[in-house]
Amino acid sequence: MSASTLQTPLLFLDVDGVLNTSLQQGGKYVHPLLVKRLKKVVDSTHCSIIISSTWRKRDDYMQYLRGMFGDVGLEEMVIKGNTISLEVTNKEGVILTPEQLRGDEIKAYVAEVGEGLRWVAVDDMDLCRELEEDNFVRTNVESGLSSKNVNELIEKLSNK
Ligand SMILES: [Mg+2]
Repeated sequence: MSASTLQTPLLFLDVDGVLNTSLQQGGKYVHPLLVKRLKKVVDSTHCSIIISSTWRKRDDYMQYLRGMFGDVGLEEMVIKGNTISLEVTNKEGVILTPEQLRGDEIKAYVAEVGEGLRWVAVDDMDLCRELEEDNFVRTNVESGLSSKNVNELIEKLSNK
């Protein structure tokens, strides 16, 4: 996908701890209420979604996620792609932390496709060392995507 086909802001979406909570994690599950909150972000900002979650590696999980999107009236075509998987060791042979890996995978996507676009990553992992404040919203794993997070995302994804 080239940059010319993506004119909308990009939302890099983690799933576990964002669309479900620590109580519900560890399987193929997202909470409809939290998906509805995500829909509010999409409706307000017309963003495209790029999956940064490891869910992207499982076809059955992605099929389930698309189905859950459909159930709340969120057009599944809003999912425009996913980040690529980097090696867990960098060029110097240093093992990357999950946070570094996730952050680097997102930045690699932005460098290739999203140059010049507004973008934000939402994740329950603490990516604030890897990403600028304008490009990151952190959820609480115990509650998932909150109404406050929704407002933060809308603000950061909007042209203000
Ligand atoms: Mg997570």
